[in-house]
Amino acid sequence: AAKEQGRNAFSFFSEELNREARERRHLEGSLHRAFANDEFFLEYQPQIELRSGRIFSFEALVRWQHPEDGLIYPNRFIPVAEETGLIRRLGEWVLRTACLQCRQWQQPGLPPVRVAVNVSGHQFNQPGFIDMVDRVLEETELDPELLELELTESSLMAGAQESIMTLIDLKVRGIHLAIDDFGTGYSSLSYLKHFPLDRLKIDRSFVRDIVKDLDDRAIVEAIIAMAHSLGLRVLAEGVEHEDELELLKERGCDEVQGFYFAHPLLPAAVEENLKVR
Ligand code: C2E
Ligand code: MG
Ligand code: MG
Ligand code: MG
Repeated sequence: AAKEQGRNAFSFFSEELNREARERRHLEGSLHRAFANDEFFLEYQPQIELRSGRIFSFEALVRWQHPEDGLIYPNRFIPVAEETGLIRRLGEWVLRTACLQCRQWQQPGLPPVRVAVNVSGHQFNQPGFIDMVDRVLEETELDPELLELELTESSLMAGAQESIMTLIDLKVRGIHLAIDDFGTGYSSLSYLKHFPLDRLKIDRSFVRDIVKDLDDRAIVEAIIAMAHSLGLRVLAEGVEHEDELELLKERGCDEVQGFYFAHPLLPAAVEENLKVR
């Protein structure tokens, strides 16, 4: 019976793999078409500075309106775009669209609002990455100070020495730099101090249980302390409840983002938010 069960488990497993492979091939085929048909769009989620209560930036998050499958979120198609190399084209489209959008948000007499753009390791570690960023900034005429790039620990650590050079190149242009999902990858702390970063974004998985789970709370406290001693700002991702917010405030977290404040918004809703403030 055990043998029988094992075989069933195996065939279940391989069916599952088959299904995933089919879905990937399906998405891969329609990804090519998606560019031509303008099927991607961006939503923007506010990032709030706790001290002032001000929205200082919006994070651009890509979505895909698939004509047959409906709305698809990035966790499903970014990996496919990475495997097929289409991520470079998609990444450039996201950057250009976000930069154009950010220019429109600036209002005379009001403090500037930045845009934060996620960068895949597959893009960041490409030789032409900096040239692409320069080209987009030039075309869109966005002040580089208004752009932040979010990188993950793994994409920086993949080639830490080269990463330092690339980060410095971006930094001298005035671009802000953040590490996304901090705490989930592995960072060599000795490298961290050599990276010219502006902020660490604490991953939602630590924030989610911060009220109940004392281990997660300890981790968040340690990240905040370490970031501050390195001169970095700390943003907590995925804040959904008031008690999480209170705890983060008490512990000296600088900035927050999450459904408690706002879900990712369409451009029209962003403009409403900017008017109110
Ligand atoms: P991320 O950069 O860590 O973005 C945060 C994700 O958490 C977003 O999911 C956002 O909608 C979600 N989120 C924000 N606040 C909350 C909250 O309070 N609760 C919960 N449960 N979730 C919250 P989304 O938009 O599905 O994006 C997932 C990931 O896909 C992103 O994680 C990022 O790694 C990647 N991604 C999104 N857009 C792009 C892009 O343009 N380029 C690249 N390379 N990756 C992207
Ligand atoms: Mg991000
Ligand atoms: Mg994140
Ligand atoms: Mg993430």
